[in-house]
Amino acid sequence: MGRRNRREPSEEPTELKLGNFARTENHADGEWKVTSLTGDTSVKVYRCPGCQGEIQPKTAHIVAWNMDYSADERRHWHTACWKRRTPSRY
Ligand SMILES: [Zn+2]
Repeated sequence: MGRRNRREPSEEPTELKLGNFARTENHADGEWKVTSLTGDTSVKVYRCPGCQGEIQPKTAHIVAWNMDYSADERRHWHTACWKRRTPSRY
């Protein structure tokens, strides 16, 4: 967001900085902020809303939230489940 310095070695993609890494995707149910986590910083087990399965720590996955809501409402998805999420169903 307005920052032009890239690749600062000290910058870690922590959850607090998610907004800086997120891209915007247009879906039938609105605009979503979407960001990919490498898994390096993930230490918790998350519940994927796509398959109701668990996302294990150290697993690369997607974090997404609808822009109608705050980033506090973000959800963690398996990468494959996010791609399978077909908004045409809505
Ligand atoms: Zn899943």
